[in-house]
Amino acid sequence: MKKQRLERLYEALEAEKQELLGVEERLAGPGGLGVPMDEATGELSIYDNHFADYASELYERSKDLGILENTRQQIAEIEEAQNAIAEGNYGYCHNCGQMIPESRLMALPRTLLCVQCKREQEDRDEHQRPVEEDDVFFAGEDAWGVGRDILPNEEFSQ
Ligand SMILES: [Zn+2]
Repeated sequence: MKKQRLERLYEALEAEKQELLGVEERLAGPGGLGVPMDEATGELSIYDNHFADYASELYERSKDLGILENTRQQIAEIEEAQNAIAEGNYGYCHNCGQMIPESRLMALPRTLLCVQCKREQEDRDEHQRPVEEDDVFFAGEDAWGVGRDILPNEEFSQ
């Protein structure tokens, strides 16, 4: 690939990285996930009547956490692509070593895999996916479980 084109891709990657770093800061910094849950919800606690608020806050944070992880993953990919450009081995699939078509690199500069390998990776992810999704789901379930425990169900059923 021409040096000039590589430089343009490097700049495009840098711009994308800066944007993602902004997203990361917004999510992880003050006012986001950097604040402990208790503070973020103010006076709310699981033991008062605002349980639904707590649960929705928990849900929001789980969602943000997912986005945050995704953002960090993308930043890591961009940095890897930038390193590859700096080292002069950009444009080769990290998995099989084949040259990635320039059209694909132009469309998705941070890609580290050829189309074939990317597809295989996605197939794998499809099958052994949701470690994170389980966590998120569990967090929600768990919160409602706490809610049920503190409600005096037995008094009413006897
Ligand atoms: Zn490949």
